[in-house]
Amino acid sequence: MSDCDSIAGEVARLRARILHLKDEAGEALTLEQRQSAQRSLHIAELQLQVRERDLEACLSRENTLRDPRVFGFEVNQGLAEYELVAGKDTLFRVFLGVPPDVLAPPQVAAAAISDIVIDEPLFRTSRLDYASLSVTRPDGVTFEVPANLGSGQITNFSRSYNEYDNANFYVDGASLASPGHYEAVARFYREGSLVGSVSLGRHEFLATKDLRLLIVVDTWPMPVAAWNTLLGALEHVHRAFPVRAGIGPLNGVRRNGLRYEMEPNPFNPDFPAWGPLRQRFADFNAAQQTQGHPDRVEHILSVRVQQPGEPPRGGAASPGPGASVAGVVLNILPRGDLTFATLISQELGHNFLGSAHTPEPEIPDASAFDLVGRRSIRRPQSIMYGFFSGTPSEDGLLLPGDWSTIRQGLLATTSTGNA
Ligand SMILES: [Zn+2]
Repeated sequence: MSDCDSIAGEVARLRARILHLKDEAGEALTLEQRQSAQRSLHIAELQLQVRERDLEACLSRENTLRDPRVFGFEVNQGLAEYELVAGKDTLFRVFLGVPPDVLAPPQVAAAAISDIVIDEPLFRTSRLDYASLSVTRPDGVTFEVPANLGSGQITNFSRSYNEYDNANFYVDGASLASPGHYEAVARFYREGSLVGSVSLGRHEFLATKDLRLLIVVDTWPMPVAAWNTLLGALEHVHRAFPVRAGIGPLNGVRRNGLRYEMEPNPFNPDFPAWGPLRQRFADFNAAQQTQGHPDRVEHILSVRVQQPGEPPRGGAASPGPGASVAGVVLNILPRGDLTFATLISQELGHNFLGSAHTPEPEIPDASAFDLVGRRSIRRPQSIMYGFFSGTPSEDGLLLPGDWSTIRQGLLATTSTGNA
């Protein structure tokens, strides 16, 4: 057992003791008993702070990976800045590069450049065969996730955000189902031997609730192209919003973070007004109750197929009374395909964030990542930018503040989730 393991054991015991003392303080029969428990609790909390710092210091000393070089790490659900949400697919990424000693060998550094005859490569690459991430869940159970190491050949000398570089550990939302703290350590191997480890520390994953949606369409059956566009948009919402992993039907698996019902009856939203939508929404939830289904919807989305000769139109949203919220989106002819998903995400975003748009189109954050496509987003764009932004769907992300606000909005509903 290493030093760090024994400190970690002590930290776990202190956490258990704090829980116990909180119970004791809550159940105390006399004022004296309560004050005594609170004093003990205060001391235990101070001890915990100190030992947690010791543990962090110890783990950072144990970061023994030298070749390749470690440029840091992050835990990412779209932007590294997002607060983490339990149940969502997550990238644990260790940034790797070529060790500095091979960048400038001493004989090269000492000589003037013109004196060197280059008859061998100045730079070598660094190589890994295998890496594994140990993640310890809030309940103390540890599971392992193998890395995606790309080719295993590491050639970059500075931090790279390319999805083909680094050690990328893709962790399924289902493995991170419960809110709480998760602790992660990555171990790296070459030719069957452990060559180093990196502690990624302890990260809190917060509770969230599921987004439930009723979709009505003005044309039934819808053209196949329209279906594809709409389903792509749902994928986008599922990726970009702070919800659990999984898309499925309402009244289906209740773990899915996005659940929807699509009504196979042509519904005229009285375009361009949308008065009947609220009634439709209320009727639907009433029918759910009558039929004994536990699921309710919090949003209604009206999809109108753009008519021949009609100019492209945007969407609109209107937060309703209480949790009942209406969103309306138009335009599903191919002309709008590339931006349609952003449009839907923006209208649903308005239901949580109000009518304001973000002033800047771009999000200056190199960590931007699409966890569904498992690719780096090179030009991340704000979903909430502009009146009808035309933001390419594949580049769209929420700003960190909007992500948090939407999570709070979800938590305020009676939806299912892990809260
Ligand atoms: Zn808007």
